[in-house]
Amino acid sequence: MPRTHASLQRLHVEPDLSTGATLTLGRDQSLYLAAVLRKTVGDEVVLFNGRDGAWLARLTSDSKKAVTLEIVERIAPQTPPSDLWYGFAPLKTERLDYVVQKATEMGAGVIQPVLTRYTQVSRLKHEKLVANVIEAAEQCEVLTVPEVRSETTLERLLADWPAREGSRRLIFADEGEAAASPLDAIRALAGQPIGLLVGPEGGFSHEERTLLRAQPFVVPVSLGPRILRADTAAVAALAVIQAIIGDWR
Ligand code: SAH
Repeated sequence: MPRTHASLQRLHVEPDLSTGATLTLGRDQSLYLAAVLRKTVGDEVVLFNGRDGAWLARLTSDSKKAVTLEIVERIAPQTPPSDLWYGFAPLKTERLDYVVQKATEMGAGVIQPVLTRYTQVSRLKHEKLVANVIEAAEQCEVLTVPEVRSETTLERLLADWPAREGSRRLIFADEGEAAASPLDAIRALAGQPIGLLVGPEGGFSHEERTLLRAQPFVVPVSLGPRILRADTAAVAALAVIQAIIGDWR
């Protein structure tokens, strides 16, 4: 997408967007625009809702309680949602925020927390994950907000996979795999719907690795000779996938 209006603040909103429509923001977004960014009447921002593309909007009120905007024109068409599925064993607090932001920047379309044997987090704050994903989408100028699913267990994920994901192949970042480049394994998946699964700080248990490797839809890959931290492995694997068979081409 051409980087027109690149300098303008981008804001995710829920309502439909069309020329001439007016919009009143909630308290948080009003405070952010009017107080933090000190936007005033006449200033412009870019709005997107994940359905209608990106729209130029102008402030018609800069009240810190309820900023109002008029929609001027569409500046970018809606892009299709990404079909890249990303499953991960949730990490502790700030690294959890980090990993869902990185998955958004790297183009994940579905973000699926997966509870495994060594996952150190049990309760996830779903709305906090969604807020992180929206913040990342605003910042990296994507127009679709990844779908954050409720957590599941590895066993349930694998049992439901064929029914829920059909022919999608699941790239399994397996730290127990002999060190090698994932290039060939990933290139062989070109044109197919794919997912990526990354384990927790403590890695996958022996039973989990055995269960994963027994699934016909699972493709184990090594991410090289060093043991990467889970959030490093996520970004490294997503980068390799996007570069070889994804939307970086
Ligand atoms: N048991 C190790 C591994 C954890 S790394 C430890 O405790 O440090 C966290 C996750 O990142 C792994 O489950 C795996 O999904 C991924 N990962 C890390 N290094 C990897 C590698 N060299 N190859 C494949 N996956 C890797």
